[in-house]
Amino acid sequence: MAVGFLPWQTAFAQRWLQRQSSLPHAMLIHGLSGTGKREFALGMAQALLCERRAPDSPDFACGQCDACRWSAVGNHPDLMHLRPAALAAREGAEHAADEASLDDPAADGSSTTKKKLSEDLRVDQIRALEPWYHRATHRGGLRIVVLYPAEAMNTIAANALLKALEEPSPETLFLLVTDAPDRLLATILSRCQRLTIPMPTEDQSLSWLAQQGIEQGEAGQWLAAAGHAPLRALALSEQQSTPCPPWASDLMTGLAKSDPRRGGFSVGVLADELAKSAPVQWLPVFQRLCVDLTLARAGLPVRYYPKLSAVTGQRAQQASLEHWSLLVSWLNSQLPLATHPLNAKLFAHACLQRFCD
Ligand SMILES: [Zn+2]
Repeated sequence: MAVGFLPWQTAFAQRWLQRQSSLPHAMLIHGLSGTGKREFALGMAQALLCERRAPDSPDFACGQCDACRWSAVGNHPDLMHLRPAALAAREGAEHAADEASLDDPAADGSSTTKKKLSEDLRVDQIRALEPWYHRATHRGGLRIVVLYPAEAMNTIAANALLKALEEPSPETLFLLVTDAPDRLLATILSRCQRLTIPMPTEDQSLSWLAQQGIEQGEAGQWLAAAGHAPLRALALSEQQSTPCPPWASDLMTGLAKSDPRRGGFSVGVLADELAKSAPVQWLPVFQRLCVDLTLARAGLPVRYYPKLSAVTGQRAQQASLEHWSLLVSWLNSQLPLATHPLNAKLFAHACLQRFCD
């Protein structure tokens, strides 16, 4: 059984497990968000620490030995998870509180708010591992650090990690996971072997979503709404009731019907509604709608919301391809503002107004 790995990762994982004795000290695991990079890293860690499989064999973790049981619950003394405290809490980690206790805003001079759990991987978390690198491993095997998302390190934290990467203690393996290798320090990148995680096929994604309890008839729509990333599709299905939020389909239907020469669609009420939730919830929906409009205007099938393809097609014809492309760029440029808009209502209004123009 492929303990820890997703179905589309098994052949790829086996190739790496067969090279255990020649693994580099650090690997950078990257690929499309929502396709299981973290699961792959944890699966590798569990397999490499399993005490019943022979090194350099293509076998996966047995799932039964002490090491496997500890890895599965995050208690293996030779396996460290490094992730932001807020993420640890979202993942339900038993030790999220310990990670949070390291979360002292004064420690590296960043301006994170006090009470809130940090979304950053903090320098103190990285430095706290220093004594651990120099002790003998508890089980006489590898010592593994799984760190994600690597782009959550600020420069100070990244430099602290660099120090550990530059002087690798024997038997230590770093598995860094990232959605955005281009946001990492070049000096970190140069010390890691890059590993691009395979994408699932449409069929693999759909059958995996069915195993997770997503209704077969709807799985394709969830998958499309998540940009064909199955883990993101599952997360989306847990966050919202329909693949396309009702407000977005109402908006697109309204815009498709409205005559732009008569002033188009009224945005006030919807802006108030959107302002009640965080922009990170709704801005990506505008981005996806807009990509679909661009594709429809170019005569291509839509990517994210196939159920809306008829109204998207009508709306797309109301402006030029250049208009929709510029709108995609503009929405992308708003993303950094989405985490901390100065005024949520104004921000929602501005985005909606621009989308409807
Ligand atoms: Zn085992």
